[in-house]
Amino acid sequence: MFMNRRLCQHGNDCLIFPGNLQSKPFGISYISINEVDKTAHIITLTLYIMRTILKMMMAATTLLTAACSNAQNKTENNRKMSEQTKPNPYYSRTDTNKLTVSNEEWKKLLPADVYRIARLAGTEYAFSGKYWKTDVKGMYYCVVCGNPLFKSGAKFASSCGWPSFYETIRPNSVEYLQDDSHGMSRIEVRCGRCESHLGHIFDDGPAPTFKRFCMNSAVLDFEPGE
Ligand code: FE
Repeated sequence: MFMNRRLCQHGNDCLIFPGNLQSKPFGISYISINEVDKTAHIITLTLYIMRTILKMMMAATTLLTAACSNAQNKTENNRKMSEQTKPNPYYSRTDTNKLTVSNEEWKKLLPADVYRIARLAGTEYAFSGKYWKTDVKGMYYCVVCGNPLFKSGAKFASSCGWPSFYETIRPNSVEYLQDDSHGMSRIEVRCGRCESHLGHIFDDGPAPTFKRFCMNSAVLDFEPGE
């Protein structure tokens, strides 16, 4: 045996020569034990340092990616909050004058989900809105313009998954349009002041009107009260 193996301080195998090979048998010059050991340790240490630097770089990259993602999320949340808190100059619960405001302008004033339903005739998922099963006393207004629409007394429990009312506060609180979209023939209900889409009306409501105003919670603004 010309070589023995043992673990060095870095946890790796280091090659060392037995001590008696420091001599020069057969006239061949051998590298001394100290030089071999030193070289092996330098290589091992270099690899160890390179591995450590690589790990640190990978960890830093991961942290940087997470930080960037967090920053992006915060920016997006701030943008949404900013959208939702932007003052709407057309909102009034007492002004009954009709509004003629372009969708381009409404888009700047309304949260994205409200804009989609109110101005693009969208529909929220059944059983997903915040008012479909509430029975708290109060008034429901158009969330876009503040127009009073329904009293809680006209609300009834419906299994359809959307807030349902059998009558509006005033006959002209809303207006009606024929809607033949999505392969159905329905009557669309729009706000009488700002013409925002609110939902549809059906003939399967309770007495005394036997009508069912099937509304989207997202376009209703509720104020608790008697
Ligand atoms: Fe309105």
